[in-house]
Amino acid sequence: MRELIIDLDAIAKNLNTMRAKTNGALALAVIKADAYGHGMLPVAKKLEAAGADYLGVADIEEAMKLRAEGIDLPILAWLHSPTENFVSAIDAGIELGIANIDHLERIAKASQQLRRVARVHLKVDTGLGRNGAGAAEWPEVLQKAHELVAEGFIQVVAIFSHLSCTSEADDLNQIARFEAACDEAKAAGIDFELRHLVASDGLLRYPQAHYEMVRIGVALYGLSPFVENSAADFGLVPAMTATARVTQTKRVGANQGVSYGYLHRTAAETTLALIPVGYAEGLPRNATGKAQVSIHGKQYSVNSRVAMDQFVLDVGDDAVVAGDLVTIFGDPAAGVPSADDLAAACDTINYEIVTRMGGRFHRSYL
Ligand code: PLP
Repeated sequence: MRELIIDLDAIAKNLNTMRAKTNGALALAVIKADAYGHGMLPVAKKLEAAGADYLGVADIEEAMKLRAEGIDLPILAWLHSPTENFVSAIDAGIELGIANIDHLERIAKASQQLRRVARVHLKVDTGLGRNGAGAAEWPEVLQKAHELVAEGFIQVVAIFSHLSCTSEADDLNQIARFEAACDEAKAAGIDFELRHLVASDGLLRYPQAHYEMVRIGVALYGLSPFVENSAADFGLVPAMTATARVTQTKRVGANQGVSYGYLHRTAAETTLALIPVGYAEGLPRNATGKAQVSIHGKQYSVNSRVAMDQFVLDVGDDAVVAGDLVTIFGDPAAGVPSADDLAAACDTINYEIVTRMGGRFHRSYL
Protein backbone atom coordinates (compact mmCIF):
# COMPACT_ATOMS: atom_id res chain seq x y z
CA MET A 1 0.00 0.00 0.00
CA ARG A 2 2.93 2.31 0.76
CA GLU A 3 6.41 1.71 -0.58
CA LEU A 4 9.80 3.37 -0.35
CA ILE A 5 11.77 2.07 -3.31
CA ILE A 6 15.51 2.32 -2.69
CA ASP A 7 17.85 2.09 -5.65
CA LEU A 8 21.06 0.64 -4.21
CA ASP A 9 22.83 0.82 -7.58
CA ALA A 10 22.19 4.57 -7.59
CA ILE A 11 23.89 4.80 -4.16
CA ALA A 12 26.93 2.87 -5.43
CA LYS A 13 27.05 5.07 -8.53
CA ASN A 14 26.78 8.25 -6.44
CA LEU A 15 29.68 7.07 -4.26
CA ASN A 16 31.85 6.69 -7.34
CA THR A 17 30.65 9.97 -8.86
CA MET A 18 31.62 11.86 -5.72
CA ARG A 19 34.88 9.98 -5.25
CA ALA A 20 35.86 10.80 -8.84
CA LYS A 21 35.68 14.50 -7.92
CA THR A 22 38.58 14.03 -5.47
CA ASN A 23 42.19 13.42 -6.21
CA GLY A 24 42.19 9.91 -4.78
CA ALA A 25 40.97 10.77 -1.28
CA LEU A 26 39.52 7.91 0.78
CA ALA A 27 35.72 7.91 0.89
CA LEU A 28 33.92 7.65 4.22
CA ALA A 29 30.25 6.94 3.52
CA VAL A 30 27.97 8.52 6.10
CA ILE A 31 25.14 6.11 6.90
CA LYS A 32 23.92 7.45 10.24
CA ALA A 33 20.19 7.84 10.96
CA ASP A 34 19.36 4.60 9.10
CA ALA A 35 21.35 5.80 6.09
CA TYR A 36 19.30 9.00 5.92
CA GLY A 37 16.13 6.90 5.88
CA HIS A 38 17.32 4.48 3.17
CA GLY A 39 18.04 1.54 5.50
CA MET A 40 21.46 1.31 7.13
CA LEU A 41 22.23 -2.40 6.66
CA PRO A 42 21.40 -2.87 2.97
CA VAL A 43 23.08 0.44 2.20
CA ALA A 44 26.20 -0.55 4.18
CA LYS A 45 26.43 -3.89 2.37
CA LYS A 46 26.10 -2.19 -1.00
CA LEU A 47 28.71 0.43 -0.11
CA GLU A 48 31.12 -2.21 1.15
CA ALA A 49 30.76 -4.05 -2.18
CA ALA A 50 31.09 -0.75 -4.08
CA GLY A 51 34.47 -0.03 -2.47
CA ALA A 52 33.75 2.56 0.24
CA ASP A 53 36.84 2.91 2.44
CA TYR A 54 35.09 3.78 5.70
CA LEU A 55 31.58 3.97 7.10
CA GLY A 56 30.57 6.81 9.39
CA VAL A 57 27.76 6.91 11.94
CA ALA A 58 26.93 9.18 14.84
CA ASP A 59 26.24 6.64 17.60
CA ILE A 60 28.19 3.59 18.75
CA GLU A 61 24.88 1.70 18.78
CA GLU A 62 24.63 2.22 15.02
CA ALA A 63 28.21 1.03 14.56
CA MET A 64 27.58 -2.07 16.70
CA LYS A 65 24.61 -3.03 14.52
CA LEU A 66 26.85 -2.88 11.46
CA ARG A 67 29.48 -5.10 13.08
CA ALA A 68 26.80 -7.54 14.26
CA GLU A 69 25.74 -7.90 10.61
CA GLY A 70 29.27 -8.77 9.58
CA ILE A 71 30.32 -5.43 8.06
CA ASP A 72 34.14 -5.46 8.16
CA LEU A 73 34.93 -1.98 6.86
CA PRO A 74 36.49 0.51 9.26
CA ILE A 75 33.63 2.29 11.04
CA LEU A 76 33.88 5.68 12.73
CA ALA A 77 31.34 6.77 15.39
CA TRP A 78 31.55 10.32 16.72
CA LEU A 79 28.64 11.21 19.01
CA HIS A 80 28.87 9.64 22.44
CA SER A 81 26.69 9.41 25.52
CA PRO A 82 28.31 11.08 28.56
CA THR A 83 28.14 7.70 30.34
CA GLU A 84 29.61 5.66 27.46
CA ASN A 85 32.33 3.28 28.66
CA PHE A 86 33.58 2.43 25.14
CA VAL A 87 34.44 -1.20 26.07
CA SER A 88 32.19 -2.95 23.59
CA ALA A 89 32.96 -0.41 20.88
CA ILE A 90 36.72 -0.93 21.16
CA ASP A 91 36.24 -4.67 21.41
CA ALA A 92 34.29 -4.55 18.13
CA GLY A 93 37.11 -2.59 16.49
CA ILE A 94 35.03 0.57 16.08
CA GLU A 95 37.02 3.75 15.60
CA LEU A 96 36.00 6.57 17.88
CA GLY A 97 35.68 10.30 17.39
CA ILE A 98 37.14 12.10 20.39
CA ALA A 99 35.59 15.43 21.33
CA ASN A 100 37.11 16.04 24.76
CA ILE A 101 39.39 14.88 27.58
CA ASP A 102 36.61 12.86 29.20
CA HIS A 103 36.35 10.69 26.07
CA LEU A 104 40.11 10.12 26.11
CA GLU A 105 40.11 9.12 29.77
CA ARG A 106 37.20 6.70 29.37
CA ILE A 107 38.73 5.20 26.24
CA ALA A 108 42.08 4.71 27.98
CA LYS A 109 40.32 2.85 30.82
CA ALA A 110 38.49 0.61 28.34
CA SER A 111 41.63 -0.01 26.33
CA GLN A 112 43.53 -1.00 29.51
CA GLN A 113 40.73 -3.37 30.51
CA LEU A 114 40.63 -4.99 27.06
CA ARG A 115 44.40 -4.86 26.45
CA ARG A 116 43.55 -3.52 23.02
CA VAL A 117 44.73 -0.29 21.42
CA ALA A 118 41.79 1.99 20.58
CA ARG A 119 41.86 3.70 17.20
CA VAL A 120 40.70 7.29 17.59
CA HIS A 121 40.04 10.34 15.44
CA LEU A 122 40.59 13.60 17.34
CA LYS A 123 37.85 16.10 16.57
CA VAL A 124 38.65 19.79 16.68
CA ASP A 125 35.85 22.33 16.64
CA THR A 126 37.05 24.75 13.97
CA GLY A 127 34.00 26.98 14.27
CA LEU A 128 30.79 25.00 13.90
CA GLY A 129 30.27 25.16 17.65
CA ARG A 130 29.09 21.55 17.90
CA ASN A 131 31.10 18.59 19.19
CA GLY A 132 34.88 18.63 19.08
CA ALA A 133 37.51 20.31 21.23
CA GLY A 134 37.34 24.09 21.10
CA ALA A 135 40.44 26.27 20.82
CA ALA A 136 40.91 26.41 24.61
CA GLU A 137 40.68 22.62 25.04
CA TRP A 138 42.62 21.51 21.93
CA PRO A 139 46.17 21.77 23.42
CA GLU A 140 45.05 19.80 26.47
CA VAL A 141 43.45 17.12 24.26
CA LEU A 142 46.67 16.87 22.23
CA GLN A 143 48.81 16.54 25.33
CA LYS A 144 46.57 13.87 26.84
CA ALA A 145 46.39 12.00 23.51
CA HIS A 146 50.18 12.08 23.27
CA GLU A 147 50.49 10.54 26.75
CA LEU A 148 47.96 7.83 25.95
CA VAL A 149 49.72 6.94 22.70
CA ALA A 150 52.99 6.61 24.65
CA GLU A 151 51.24 4.38 27.21
CA GLY A 152 49.94 2.17 24.38
CA PHE A 153 46.24 2.81 24.98
CA ILE A 154 45.34 4.66 21.80
CA GLN A 155 46.45 5.16 18.24
CA VAL A 156 45.53 8.51 16.67
CA VAL A 157 44.30 7.63 13.18
CA ALA A 158 43.09 11.06 12.18
CA ILE A 159 42.36 14.67 12.99
CA PHE A 160 38.92 15.79 11.82
CA SER A 161 36.40 18.59 11.93
CA HIS A 162 33.15 19.65 10.24
CA LEU A 163 32.29 22.80 8.29
CA SER A 164 29.35 25.06 9.14
CA CYS A 165 28.64 25.74 5.42
CA THR A 166 27.50 29.22 6.38
CA SER A 167 29.47 31.25 3.84
CA GLU A 168 32.63 30.82 1.82
CA ALA A 169 34.44 33.25 4.15
CA ASP A 170 33.43 31.23 7.23
CA ASP A 171 34.37 27.94 5.57
CA LEU A 172 37.78 29.29 4.52
CA ASN A 173 38.38 30.40 8.12
CA GLN A 174 37.52 26.90 9.29
CA ILE A 175 39.84 25.36 6.70
CA ALA A 176 42.68 27.60 7.93
CA ARG A 177 41.89 26.77 11.56
CA PHE A 178 41.80 23.05 10.68
CA GLU A 179 45.21 23.16 9.05
CA ALA A 180 46.59 25.04 12.06
CA ALA A 181 45.07 22.42 14.39
CA CYS A 182 46.73 19.62 12.37
CA ASP A 183 50.07 21.46 12.60
CA GLU A 184 49.57 21.82 16.36
CA ALA A 185 48.95 18.08 16.61
CA LYS A 186 52.17 17.34 14.73
CA ALA A 187 54.05 19.82 16.92
CA ALA A 188 52.66 18.00 19.98
CA GLY A 189 54.33 14.82 18.67
CA ILE A 190 51.18 13.11 17.42
CA ASP A 191 51.46 10.94 14.33
CA PHE A 192 48.28 10.54 12.31
CA GLU A 193 47.57 9.15 8.86
CA LEU A 194 44.44 11.02 7.91
CA ARG A 195 42.86 14.46 7.93
CA HIS A 196 39.16 14.75 7.13
CA LEU A 197 37.08 17.88 7.08
CA VAL A 198 34.64 18.09 4.21
CA ALA A 199 31.23 16.47 3.74
CA SER A 200 29.22 16.58 0.48
CA ASP A 201 29.03 20.38 0.38
CA GLY A 202 32.72 20.98 1.07
CA LEU A 203 33.77 18.17 -1.28
CA LEU A 204 32.02 20.00 -4.14
CA ARG A 205 33.20 23.49 -3.15
CA TYR A 206 36.71 23.14 -1.75
CA PRO A 207 39.07 20.75 -3.58
CA GLN A 208 41.92 22.21 -1.54
CA ALA A 209 40.31 20.70 1.58
CA HIS A 210 39.80 17.09 0.45
CA TYR A 211 42.97 15.99 2.29
CA GLU A 212 43.29 12.21 2.75
CA MET A 213 39.60 11.46 3.33
CA VAL A 214 36.18 12.98 2.57
CA ARG A 215 32.93 12.15 4.36
CA ILE A 216 30.05 11.79 1.92
CA GLY A 217 26.50 11.81 3.23
CA VAL A 218 23.57 13.35 1.38
CA ALA A 219 25.18 13.10 -2.07
CA LEU A 220 25.34 9.30 -1.70
CA TYR A 221 21.58 9.29 -1.69
CA GLY A 222 21.48 11.29 -4.91
CA LEU A 223 20.60 14.59 -3.29
CA SER A 224 22.26 17.96 -3.67
CA PRO A 225 23.69 19.60 -0.54
CA PHE A 226 22.82 23.00 -2.01
CA VAL A 227 19.33 24.43 -2.44
CA GLU A 228 20.49 26.40 -5.48
CA ASN A 229 21.70 23.28 -7.38
CA SER A 230 19.91 20.09 -8.30
CA ALA A 231 21.47 16.66 -7.85
CA ALA A 232 21.59 16.26 -11.64
CA ASP A 233 23.99 19.25 -11.79
CA PHE A 234 26.56 16.97 -10.11
CA GLY A 235 25.64 13.76 -11.94
CA LEU A 236 23.88 12.34 -8.87
CA VAL A 237 20.89 10.01 -9.10
CA PRO A 238 18.17 10.14 -6.37
CA ALA A 239 17.99 6.77 -4.62
CA MET A 240 14.61 7.01 -2.87
CA THR A 241 11.16 7.00 -4.46
CA ALA A 242 8.16 7.25 -2.12
CA THR A 243 4.95 5.76 -3.50
CA ALA A 244 1.51 4.68 -2.36
CA ARG A 245 -1.62 3.21 -3.90
CA VAL A 246 -4.89 5.16 -3.97
CA THR A 247 -7.10 3.35 -1.44
CA GLN A 248 -10.47 4.81 -2.34
CA THR A 249 -12.09 7.30 -4.70
CA LYS A 250 -15.51 8.93 -4.54
CA ARG A 251 -17.54 11.43 -6.50
CA VAL A 252 -18.71 14.42 -4.51
CA GLY A 253 -20.62 17.57 -5.39
CA ALA A 254 -19.54 21.20 -5.34
CA ASN A 255 -18.70 22.95 -2.06
CA GLN A 256 -17.73 19.73 -0.27
CA GLY A 257 -15.23 20.45 2.54
CA VAL A 258 -12.26 18.06 2.43
CA SER A 259 -10.23 16.79 5.40
CA TYR A 260 -9.69 18.51 8.77
CA GLY A 261 -10.41 22.20 8.86
CA TYR A 262 -11.90 22.18 5.32
CA LEU A 263 -8.79 23.90 3.94
CA HIS A 264 -10.07 22.78 0.53
CA ARG A 265 -13.64 22.94 -0.76
CA THR A 266 -14.57 21.42 -4.10
CA ALA A 267 -15.43 23.95 -6.81
CA ALA A 268 -17.67 21.59 -8.79
CA GLU A 269 -18.60 17.92 -8.91
CA THR A 270 -15.30 16.07 -8.73
CA THR A 271 -13.46 12.90 -7.70
CA LEU A 272 -11.66 12.72 -4.36
CA ALA A 273 -8.81 10.20 -4.08
CA LEU A 274 -7.62 8.96 -0.70
CA ILE A 275 -3.85 8.41 -0.34
CA PRO A 276 -2.73 6.34 2.66
CA VAL A 277 0.30 8.41 3.67
CA GLY A 278 0.31 10.84 6.55
CA TYR A 279 2.61 12.53 8.96
CA ALA A 280 3.11 9.14 10.66
CA GLU A 281 4.97 8.11 7.49
CA GLY A 282 7.05 11.29 7.62
CA LEU A 283 5.08 13.39 5.15
CA PRO A 284 5.23 16.78 6.88
CA ARG A 285 1.83 18.17 7.93
CA ASN A 286 2.89 21.48 6.50
CA ALA A 287 3.04 19.92 3.02
CA THR A 288 -0.65 20.87 3.04
CA GLY A 289 -1.45 23.45 0.38
CA LYS A 290 2.07 23.48 -1.09
CA ALA A 291 3.31 20.02 -2.12
CA GLN A 292 2.49 18.22 -5.36
CA VAL A 293 2.31 14.48 -5.97
CA SER A 294 2.10 12.59 -9.24
CA ILE A 295 -0.45 10.08 -10.58
CA HIS A 296 -0.16 8.75 -14.17
CA GLY A 297 2.45 11.45 -14.89
CA LYS A 298 0.19 14.33 -13.82
CA GLN A 299 0.88 16.44 -10.75
CA TYR A 300 -1.82 17.20 -8.20
CA SER A 301 -1.73 19.65 -5.30
CA VAL A 302 -1.94 18.32 -1.79
CA ASN A 303 -4.50 21.00 -1.03
CA SER A 304 -6.36 19.45 1.89
CA ARG A 305 -4.93 18.85 5.36
CA VAL A 306 -2.31 16.06 5.64
CA ALA A 307 -3.51 13.90 8.54
CA MET A 308 -1.75 11.17 10.52
CA ASP A 309 -2.51 8.33 8.09
CA GLN A 310 -3.76 9.91 4.89
CA PHE A 311 -4.42 12.86 2.64
CA VAL A 312 -7.01 13.48 -0.03
CA LEU A 313 -6.51 14.74 -3.58
CA ASP A 314 -9.13 16.50 -5.65
CA VAL A 315 -8.49 14.91 -9.06
CA GLY A 316 -11.41 16.50 -10.94
CA ASP A 317 -12.78 14.29 -13.68
CA ASP A 318 -9.49 12.44 -14.22
CA ALA A 319 -9.67 8.67 -14.44
CA VAL A 320 -8.07 7.92 -11.08
CA VAL A 321 -9.22 4.71 -9.38
CA ALA A 322 -8.37 2.73 -6.25
CA GLY A 323 -5.05 0.92 -6.70
CA ASP A 324 -3.47 3.63 -8.90
CA LEU A 325 0.14 4.44 -8.10
CA VAL A 326 0.85 7.82 -6.49
CA THR A 327 4.45 9.07 -6.44
CA ILE A 328 5.04 11.40 -3.54
CA PHE A 329 8.61 12.09 -4.62
CA GLY A 330 11.36 10.41 -6.60
CA ASP A 331 13.76 11.10 -9.45
CA PRO A 332 12.64 14.28 -11.28
CA ALA A 333 14.16 12.77 -14.44
CA ALA A 334 11.14 10.43 -14.33
CA GLY A 335 8.79 13.45 -14.37
CA VAL A 336 7.79 13.19 -10.70
CA PRO A 337 8.31 15.73 -7.88
CA SER A 338 11.72 15.48 -6.23
CA ALA A 339 12.64 15.38 -2.53
CA ASP A 340 13.92 18.93 -3.18
CA ASP A 341 10.45 19.99 -4.38
CA LEU A 342 8.81 18.52 -1.29
CA ALA A 343 11.46 20.11 0.94
CA ALA A 344 10.87 23.53 -0.63
CA ALA A 345 7.11 23.12 -0.21
CA CYS A 346 7.58 22.24 3.47
CA ASP A 347 10.18 24.92 4.17
CA THR A 348 12.85 22.38 5.01
CA ILE A 349 15.81 20.61 3.37
CA ASN A 350 15.99 17.41 1.32
CA TYR A 351 18.02 15.78 4.15
CA GLU A 352 15.03 16.03 6.47
CA ILE A 353 12.54 14.76 3.89
CA VAL A 354 14.32 11.47 3.18
CA THR A 355 15.49 10.88 6.76
CA ARG A 356 12.00 11.22 8.23
CA MET A 357 10.34 8.80 5.77
CA GLY A 358 9.32 5.70 7.72
CA GLY A 359 6.22 4.85 9.70
CA ARG A 360 4.23 2.25 7.81
CA PHE A 361 6.15 2.60 4.56
CA HIS A 362 7.51 -0.76 3.39
CA ARG A 363 11.03 -0.47 1.97
CA SER A 364 11.96 -2.41 -1.12
CA TYR A 365 15.39 -2.49 -2.73
CA LEU A 366 16.34 -2.42 -6.38
N1 PLP B 1 30.37 14.39 8.76
C1 PLP B 1 29.68 14.70 9.88
C2 PLP B 1 30.44 14.85 11.16
C3 PLP B 1 28.29 14.85 9.86
O1 PLP B 1 27.63 15.14 10.97
C4 PLP B 1 27.62 14.69 8.61
C5 PLP B 1 26.17 14.87 8.49
O2 PLP B 1 25.57 15.68 9.10
C6 PLP B 1 28.38 14.38 7.47
C7 PLP B 1 29.74 14.24 7.58
C8 PLP B 1 27.74 14.21 6.10
O3 PLP B 1 27.24 15.43 5.65
P1 PLP B 1 26.50 15.50 4.24
O4 PLP B 1 25.26 14.70 4.39
O5 PLP B 1 26.19 16.96 4.10
O6 PLP B 1 27.43 14.98 3.22
